[in-house]
Amino acid sequence: MKKEHLTEEQMIFQDAVRTFFEREITPNNEQWEKDGQVSREAWLKAGANNFFGIDVPEKYGGMEIDDYRYNTILIEEGVRSLSSGFAHSVQNDLVVPYLLSHCNEEQKKRWLPKICSGETIGALAMTEPSGGSDLAGIKTTAKDMGDHYLVNGSKTFITNGLLSDFVITAVKTDSKKNAKGISLLVLERGMKGFERGKKLEKIGQKAQDTAELFFKDVKVPKENLLGEEGKGFYYMMENLPKERLSIAAGSIAVIEFILELTIQYCHERKAFGQKIGSFQNSKFKLAEMTTEAEIGRTFYDQCVFELNDKTLTPEKAAMAKWWLTELELKVVNQCLQLHGGYGYILEYPIAQAYLNSRVQTIYGGTTEIMKEIIGRSLGF
Ligand SMILES: Cc1cc2nc3c(=O)[nH]c(=O)nc-3n(C[C@H](O)[C@H](O)[C@H](O)COP(=O)(O)OP(=O)(O)OC[C@H]3O[C@@H](n4cnc5c(N)ncnc54)[C@H](O)[C@@H]3O)c2cc1C
Repeated sequence: MKKEHLTEEQMIFQDAVRTFFEREITPNNEQWEKDGQVSREAWLKAGANNFFGIDVPEKYGGMEIDDYRYNTILIEEGVRSLSSGFAHSVQNDLVVPYLLSHCNEEQKKRWLPKICSGETIGALAMTEPSGGSDLAGIKTTAKDMGDHYLVNGSKTFITNGLLSDFVITAVKTDSKKNAKGISLLVLERGMKGFERGKKLEKIGQKAQDTAELFFKDVKVPKENLLGEEGKGFYYMMENLPKERLSIAAGSIAVIEFILELTIQYCHERKAFGQKIGSFQNSKFKLAEMTTEAEIGRTFYDQCVFELNDKTLTPEKAAMAKWWLTELELKVVNQCLQLHGGYGYILEYPIAQAYLNSRVQTIYGGTTEIMKEIIGRSLGF
């Protein structure tokens, strides 16, 4: 967020988050990239610092602060820490909103305290091997067996797929229906027939465990249904704007951070006896990107205020998601070019950003799907 958009308390929070990432995340990132996942210890430490469930009521272990600027600070500091896998945003921006909106009292008491403490790691499983954009077409079924559902099917590309203890899973409780046949069930670690596939090898975000999930006759008690049967698709549509804004938050943070590093590099590096930034091409590229970053930041911060006021529309969240993620790809690519050969060397943050950024225009709904959403609002 722009400094002038933060309160004094939020700046103190920002300092605390920065220190936490510097001490607990950055030094471990290299090892976690080798392991392909972040340690549970890091999750517990983040929980002990109250970094999960900021908007969760205190009686369930949260901070009871309903202001998305806090979530934005966590995402921005995560980017600056060069962490390539600590998916705290999945817990805060994807999992917690469903629980706050659709859990009954008993479920909130059962699940939220351990989500806030980091003892429980959450995931959201919508995508299936047969497709992610066409959510209404999912094939995983949940058959009503009286006091429980029998779940069969599979999911893929699930963030926190291996580490998660608690997976909000989109299932078809009525296979004859499309969107209206979808419900959300919580599948928990240890349920018989709930298996994890292998960790998927990705081109970036190496410390994040992205995995397949398999369900074979998994007995899921009715007490694990979120909200009402048949309303799952509606709930997902309701929550996706926040998820999309969280991805846009990562994009604007990367844009600003990489641009800062590149401007510095263009001051330091010389060719033909002059700073490379003083060549007209470099200077104009940096000027264009600085302008775009400013526009992007202004738009992003405005979206946060609208989310806080509960006026952010799905179309506007889709605009922020596609425009900022595409801008991120463009800026990172151009900044890499300005780094010359060093831009291709992995010890430089620009090279890592190049690999880590690529997925941003894909997950949380592709650029094309975002434009579909906006196009529909124009009556097409
Ligand atoms: C690292 C990573 C982490 C992820 N984490 C999660 C997670 O935690 N939970 C989860 O549920 N999913 C997750 N996903 C899945 C992600 O959300 C999907 O990959 C994404 O929604 C696209 O679905 P798909 O891969 O099936 O592509 P497809 O739907 O097969 O699309 C392929 C191409 O066709 C285009 N296309 C599809 N439909 C249309 C249309 N109507 N008009 C125009 N073009 C169209 C798409 O834009 C895309 O370019 C993750 C993916 C990755 C790579």
